[in-house]
Amino acid sequence: MNVVLFGPPGAGKGTQAKELAKHYQIPHISTGDILRANVRDGTELGKEAKGYMDKGELVPDEVLIGIIKNRLAESDCKPGYLLDGYPRTTPQADALSAILEEIGMPLEVVLNIDVADEELVTRLCGRYVCTCGESYHMKFNPPEKENVCDACGAELYQRDDDKEDVIRQRLDSYKEKTQPLINYYKEKGLLVDINGTGAIDRVFSDISNTLDQYK
Ligand code: ADP
Ligand code: ADP
Ligand code: ZN
Repeated sequence: MNVVLFGPPGAGKGTQAKELAKHYQIPHISTGDILRANVRDGTELGKEAKGYMDKGELVPDEVLIGIIKNRLAESDCKPGYLLDGYPRTTPQADALSAILEEIGMPLEVVLNIDVADEELVTRLCGRYVCTCGESYHMKFNPPEKENVCDACGAELYQRDDDKEDVIRQRLDSYKEKTQPLINYYKEKGLLVDINGTGAIDRVFSDISNTLDQYK
């Protein structure tokens, strides 16, 4: 099953991807998680990416294309992949098609998760995350024990870029650079719209009903 989870920051891509990866036994590949791990580890890549991420701007395409090419070549992707946060620009989408053609794993579906702007801001302002990639919301999806990750027991934190001014910048970058990909994938006949508002479980059943057709 070869899937892209598409949508603005805060749409619920990561939340849904974690559950979907368990349900379908395919890897969740989040470029945001990969970049944050590099920033934490102080790698060259992390040093290059940090300035862009702190400002809410996109990291240059060449950097992302390199990351995704290496990641998709790993053996756990043989049964499929769930891409989250990639592609975010037309050059990234073109590069993805070329990579997928080369490895013989063409994209089957792009799920476009739709949520209104004001709801996105509320979600991101209250988001708490874990280094393991889980994300929570203090009101909408709290962990069982305050500030502790249900999945791994580590302490939760708020992302540096989940501040209102940076959130607005990220939404602007999304509209300008990423949103045009909706038509790009519609024209390829790959796009399926998902209503991302409402209970997390309800969104999950909509998505899994769609994805069951690709099993
Ligand atoms: P993305 O990966 O698309 O940026 P996340 O999955 O991290 O988004 O979700 C953003 C925030 O919204 C998190 O705090 C998460 O707990 C919360 N969230 C996710 N799905 C829903 C939903 N259906 N209703 C309310 N809040 C949600
Ligand atoms: P969210 O879904 O909340 O916007 P992500 O974790 O996907 O956040 O991304 C966080 C940041 O990492 C982005 O604001 C951007 O700076 C960088 N980033 C992640 N994926 C990409 C990508 N495909 N292209 C460019 N920058 C990216
Ligand atoms: Zn965790």
